[in-house]
Amino acid sequence: MKNKSSVYIRTFGCQMNERDSEFVTGILLEKGFCLADSPDKADVVIYNSCSVRKHAEDRMISNMGQLKKIKKDNPDIIMGIMGCTAEHRGKGLFNSLPHLDFVCGTGNIGTIPDIIKKIIKKREKELHVGKLSGHLPEANPRHRNDKRSAYVSISRGCNNYCTYCIVPYVRGNERSRRPDDIIKEVEDLLVRGYVNITLLGQNVNSYGKDLEGNINFVKLLRAMDALNGKKNIKFMTSHPKDASIELFETMGELKGISKHLHLPAQSGSDKILLNMNRRYDSKYYLSKIKHFRKIVPDHMLTTDVIVGFPGETEKDFEATKSLLKQVRFNAAYIFKYSPRPPAPSSKMEDDVPREVKEKRHRELLVLQKSISKNKRILYD
Ligand code: SF4
Repeated sequence: MKNKSSVYIRTFGCQMNERDSEFVTGILLEKGFCLADSPDKADVVIYNSCSVRKHAEDRMISNMGQLKKIKKDNPDIIMGIMGCTAEHRGKGLFNSLPHLDFVCGTGNIGTIPDIIKKIIKKREKELHVGKLSGHLPEANPRHRNDKRSAYVSISRGCNNYCTYCIVPYVRGNERSRRPDDIIKEVEDLLVRGYVNITLLGQNVNSYGKDLEGNINFVKLLRAMDALNGKKNIKFMTSHPKDASIELFETMGELKGISKHLHLPAQSGSDKILLNMNRRYDSKYYLSKIKHFRKIVPDHMLTTDVIVGFPGETEKDFEATKSLLKQVRFNAAYIFKYSPRPPAPSSKMEDDVPREVKEKRHRELLVLQKSISKNKRILYD
C-alpha cells in the first residue's frame, strides 16, 4: 500500500449505522488514512448495513458483489463488511462474497484499524463477530460527516425483545455509555459550532438503567441543556412503555431540547401488540399521546407502523387505521412485515399474503399522506 492509504465507507441503513460508519471513518483518519470518493480509488472499502429489514441487507450484499471486478483488477485492495449484517450473517458472508477480506460485527468495529493491519501483514481473511457486550472505545474522533448536525450514541443494544426485531441479536443487550463521556462529547460538539445534536439509542428512555449512580435519560437531557451554546437536542428512539410524563415535562420546559417525539406505535390492534411483545396496548399508547400533547403543545409527533405481522386480520388492520386517524401524526414510517430470523416471530406463520401486505401498506401511506398534508396546513 501507499504511504497514505485511502478508505471508502458506504452505509445502508439507519442512523445508528450512519454513526458507526462515521466513527470508523474518524478512527481511520486519525490513523493516517484519507478518504476516497469511490471504491475503485480506495485501498480499503467497507460496507456497513443495518439488518432490521432484509431489503437493506440484500441491497448491500448485491452492491458488494458488484465490487468483485475491482478486487480482480487490484488484488491488494481490502474489502470488508461491518455492522449488523456482519454480525447477523457472520462467516457465511465469505461464502456468498469470496472476494471479502473481513467481516466485523457491531461490537468489534473499534478494532477495524488493527484488522486492516493484520490483513496487510498476513493476507488472511479476518472474522470478528460475537462481541455483544461492553462498549466501543471512547475514542471520540473529531471527524463528522456534517458541519451543523451530529449524532451522539448514548447506548447500544436493546433489552426489549420485540418478537419481530433482530436488534437484540445483532447489537446485544442494552449498555448505556457513561454520562460524563456523553456530556464531554456534546460539549465538544457545541464548542465546534454544532447546533442539531441527535442522541441515539434503541430505547433512549431506558438510558442509565444499567449504570450505577443516580442517572436517567431526563437527568442526561437536563445536563445537556445546561451546557453553553445554542443547541437543538433531539433523540431517538423512544419506547412507549418507557416514555414518561417526566420526560414530556422536561421537553416542554427546556429550550434546548427539541419538541419532536418519535414514538413507534407499530400497530393499533391489542392482539398484534401482544404478539409483538410491545408491552402496551392501544389504550395505554393513546393515553401517552394525550399527556404529551397537553404538556408539550407546540410539538411534532411521528411514529413507525408495521403492516402484515403474522395473524393480522382486516379487523386488526382497521384498528391500526383508526389509531392513525385518532392521533393524526405529523409523519408515519410504514413498513411491510418480513421475518428476520432469529427473532421469535420468524417462527410464526407468515400468513398475510404479499398482495395483502402491499395493499395495506399503500392504504396507510395514502391515509397518512392526507393527514400529514392537512397537519402541515394547520401547522403553517
Ligand atoms: S425496542 Fe423492540 S423494535 Fe426497538 S430495537 Fe428493541 S427489540 Fe427492536
